[in-house]
Amino acid sequence: MKFNTKVIHGGQHHDPSTGAVMPPVYQTSTFVQNSPGQPVNPDYEYSRAANPTRSALENALASIENGARGLAFSSGLAATDCLLRLFKAGDEIIAMDDLYGGTYRLFTRLYKDSGIKFHFVDMNDLEKFQSLINENTKLVWVETPTNPLMKIADIAEIAKITKAKKILFAVDNTFATPYLQKPLDLGADIVMHSATKYLGGHSDVIAGALIMKDAALGDELHFKQFATGATLGPMDSFLVLRGIKTLHLRVQRHCENGMKVAEFLQNHPLVEKVYYPGLPNHPFHEIAKKQMSGFGGMVSFTFKSGSKEDAIKFLEKVKVFTLAESLGGVESLANHPALMTHASIPEDKRLEVGITDDLVRLSTGVEDIEDLLADLEQAFR
Ligand SMILES: *Cc1c(COP(=O)(O)O)cnc(C)c1O
Repeated sequence: MKFNTKVIHGGQHHDPSTGAVMPPVYQTSTFVQNSPGQPVNPDYEYSRAANPTRSALENALASIENGARGLAFSSGLAATDCLLRLFKAGDEIIAMDDLYGGTYRLFTRLYKDSGIKFHFVDMNDLEKFQSLINENTKLVWVETPTNPLMKIADIAEIAKITKAKKILFAVDNTFATPYLQKPLDLGADIVMHSATKYLGGHSDVIAGALIMKDAALGDELHFKQFATGATLGPMDSFLVLRGIKTLHLRVQRHCENGMKVAEFLQNHPLVEKVYYPGLPNHPFHEIAKKQMSGFGGMVSFTFKSGSKEDAIKFLEKVKVFTLAESLGGVESLANHPALMTHASIPEDKRLEVGITDDLVRLSTGVEDIEDLLADLEQAFR
């Protein structure tokens, strides 16, 4: 199956008991057994281990990312936390230096006393990255494009290095989605998603996912998820599965609108810098072109004035864009990373990577582009 067919049919089957085309929301915690240790259906005994609605979603996730196993979590961060349980004191993890704020907080604060050592590096400096690798290095963690600065890491080049050194390589594919970028095909071992964003696509659910290329690693992570419990409930699984069925249509329009918003901003007299991987002057445009089939709906920019107050005033004035955290839904959202999504990153670190106080991040939705551009213009005025 090709991608547009997979989002609808990949790993799916009609409900065996009723013939329902969509999997029912199996809102149940437990499943009947005929005799102790003999469930009626051998696949299901307790919903923390497996639930049919969640299984339907997990099979869809594996299908669209070309993986062997998908796991659905109660949030993106729960998925990342579960992955970190593969490692122990003395292990080292190398991560990109521009990360979603919550991921950075998890790595640096929650795991501070775990004995796991985290390194943060510019993944476009492959030499520096390689110089950090030693026999304790167990995982490389990359987000591309990054949130909010749209940095791009070359997945295939990094995979060559991790493969040679037998280090696990995980990619946070939240911004690109598998419609635009397939990390497992490019050599990564694990894909992570905040399914809250584009996969769900309607800003109505918090959810996360891990997709593994290797079935044995999938089983190991399933055991850790089962044993710790951050699973996605049946209703939320249903919502994400429903979202995935229109992923290709939505992301296509997000890309069209994202490009037009980026071009509008680039030509705007009040705008200093525009961060969008689809613009030919983006520093990593060529890598983006090589590994992505489109550039998505996320656009960040700064003001000529460099003024935090201008950014705040602008964000108070937008009307079609909604001032809110999150991204990837059908509706356009606007966000101030320094005060909102990335407030958990210390100021000096924030400024060091370029998350300045006049930076605005837009999640371009699928509304009519004329309305989006008119809204931005009136807010600027
Ligand atoms: C939102 C987000 C996360 C965290 O996911 P939650 O579902 O909010 O836990 C991780 N990575 C990226 C890139 C995100 O945008």
